[in-house]
Amino acid sequence: MKNNLSVYVHIPFCVRKCNYCAFYSLPLCDERVMRDYTEALIRQINSIKTERPVTSVYFGGGTPPVLGVGALISVLEAIKAGFRLSDDCEITLEANPESVSLPDLKDYRNAGFNRISMGMQSSNDRELAILGRRYDLSRYKSAVRAVIDAGFENRSTDIIFGIPEQTIESLEKSVMTAVDSGTPHISAYSLSIEKNTPFYNNRDTLILPDEDTEEEMYYLLCDILKKHDYSHYEISSFAREGFQSRHNLHYWDCGEYIGFGTAAHSYCKGKRFSNIADVNEYISLSTGDYFSPTDFHVQRYLSDTDKREEAIMLGLRTDRGIRADDELLAKSKKYIDGGFAKIENGRFILTEKGYRVSNIIIAALI
Ligand code: SF4
Repeated sequence: MKNNLSVYVHIPFCVRKCNYCAFYSLPLCDERVMRDYTEALIRQINSIKTERPVTSVYFGGGTPPVLGVGALISVLEAIKAGFRLSDDCEITLEANPESVSLPDLKDYRNAGFNRISMGMQSSNDRELAILGRRYDLSRYKSAVRAVIDAGFENRSTDIIFGIPEQTIESLEKSVMTAVDSGTPHISAYSLSIEKNTPFYNNRDTLILPDEDTEEEMYYLLCDILKKHDYSHYEISSFAREGFQSRHNLHYWDCGEYIGFGTAAHSYCKGKRFSNIADVNEYISLSTGDYFSPTDFHVQRYLSDTDKREEAIMLGLRTDRGIRADDELLAKSKKYIDGGFAKIENGRFILTEKGYRVSNIIIAALI
């Protein structure tokens, strides 16, 4: 077992819910709830004692900056005080263009955050409005400028493809907007219409790109990013040399992590658990005498079979793939022959064509 840990902090608040969002996130709560939530987070952090080195910390959401710069920094300070962060610890803050300002970004940088993951999603104002995002292209550009001016070299940009009314040309512009911003890391996700979202409820009225167009979009963005020196190192992730997400690689490597905050997941000492997905209950549980994620979560020990299957599932997400033993080779010949996978240095690795159908291949192999 690898000894190092990652830490995840979940901030579940957003200014408004986007039309496609199925994450556990809430519209902005009143200041008292946000303050109580910050205190609950710090109590949970203080309840954990470990000497294991932490190599990455990730503040995700939700839209973490809506908690406020002072609150986020106080949570980071609690993590620094309670955990042994490695000297080169990657500390990421997720943000949206409308949620950052230069003074705040400078404060985040000075406090130790060293990576910003920005949700651009599209550079087309009409598509942003359809998604229910709260900014336009010019706001995105000024946010990028502020992130750079505040001294963040390590940056990531999220893009969505398959947006209603999106065209090949508009996707190309979005990808090039991200590339031109100099971001060294890009995550690109295909839009999925999830239950209990406005998109799902209005699905009959959405003008979605058809399957062929969506596939064309996927290969187009892969080609553009390859031409601009991004390696496709994970199903949805592209990075320039030295800028792969350490935090995500740790997950995909089956590394252990602790999640703080409502709905956050943990994997520690071979056991999976998750915190309760209710802000108010999370806050009230945190005021007990003894506060630990193990008080109120779903717990599961992973059996050897679970671990083997997870290693396949997670390993095949990345360009490191999994060890190609005889059993795997026997099962996977048709995928190699069909161009969905390749063998390199004794590893079985999905190709870009394989990434498109990774769920089917993974299900067949486990
Ligand atoms: S900003 Fe992100 S987490 Fe918040 S509602 Fe939109 S998609 Fe969901």
